[in-house]
Amino acid sequence: MKLLENKKALITGAARGIGRAIALAYAAEGADVAFTDIRLDDDTESLVKEIEALGVRGKAYASDASNFEQSDTLIDEVVKDFGTIDILVNNAGITRDNLLMRMAETDWDLVIKVNLKSVFNMTKAVQRVMLKQRSGAIINMSSVVGIAGNAGQSNYSASKAGLIGFTKSIAQELGSRNVRCNAIAPGFIETAMTEKLTAEVRESWIKNIPLRRSGKPTDVANIAIFLASDLSSYVTGQVINVCGGMQM
Ligand code: NAD
Repeated sequence: MKLLENKKALITGAARGIGRAIALAYAAEGADVAFTDIRLDDDTESLVKEIEALGVRGKAYASDASNFEQSDTLIDEVVKDFGTIDILVNNAGITRDNLLMRMAETDWDLVIKVNLKSVFNMTKAVQRVMLKQRSGAIINMSSVVGIAGNAGQSNYSASKAGLIGFTKSIAQELGSRNVRCNAIAPGFIETAMTEKLTAEVRESWIKNIPLRRSGKPTDVANIAIFLASDLSSYVTGQVINVCGGMQM
C-alpha cells in the first residue's frame, strides 16, 4: 500500500519548483492531486499529464491564493471535482528582495499578501471540509529565513515567520478534530526562485551548509510526504527544517 493511497491533495503554486515536486511525489504515493497556479500554461498542462501517467487523477486550477474570494471558490470546486480534500499544501510564494532603506511599500504589501494572507485564505476555506470529516493535514511552506531572518529579505522573512505563528495556532485550534497543521522550512533549494542569486551569494550559502550542497525540490517533497501521511499522525504544530543542516 502506498503512503497516500485514496487521499485527495490540493497544492497551491505547483506549476514549477517545490510545489511541482510535491505534486509528483504525492501522485507517486497514490494521491489524487488538485493543484493551482496563477494561470494555466504549458507547465500546468504538462504537470497534469505527468500526474495522470502515475495512475491517479490530476487537475489544474487557475487561482490566486492571495485572493480571499478565489480561494473560497477554489475549495468548493475541488470538493465538487474530487469529493473531498485530505491534504492542503500552502506552497505558493514570492520574493521581492531589497534592503529596508530601498524597499517600496508595494513590495512589502505584496509579499505579505501572497506569502501570508494566502495561507489564511486557503486554511480558512478548507477547515470546513476537514472539520466535517474529522481529519486533515495542512502543510505550510515557511523558510529557514522565517526562523533566522536575512538581510535584504525583511518582507519575505516576516511573512515566513508569521506563517510559523499561524501554523502553531491552527494546530491548537483544530487538533481536537484530528486536523494537523505543520510547516516546512526549506533552506537553499534549486528552483526559479533561487536562480536569480549571484554566484557569490550562492557560494556563501553553500559554505554554511554542512551537507555542502544546495537542496533539490524532491528533498522538500519527501518531508511533505511524511507530513501528509499517517506516518506523522501524532505530529502537529511543528516546523521541520530541510536545509542540509544550515547554520544561519
Ligand atoms: P517558484 O517561484 O519556483 O514557484 C512558486 C510558484 O508559485 C510559481 O509557479 C508561481 O507562479 C506560483 N505563485 C506565485 N504567486 C501565486 C499566487 N498568488 N497564487 C498561486 N500561485 C502563485 O518557487 P519555489 O522555490 O518552488 O518556492 C515554493 C515555496 O517554497 C515558496 O513559498 C517559497 O517561499 C518556499 N521556499 C523556497 C525556497 C527555495 O530555496 N527555493 C526556500 C525556502 C522556502
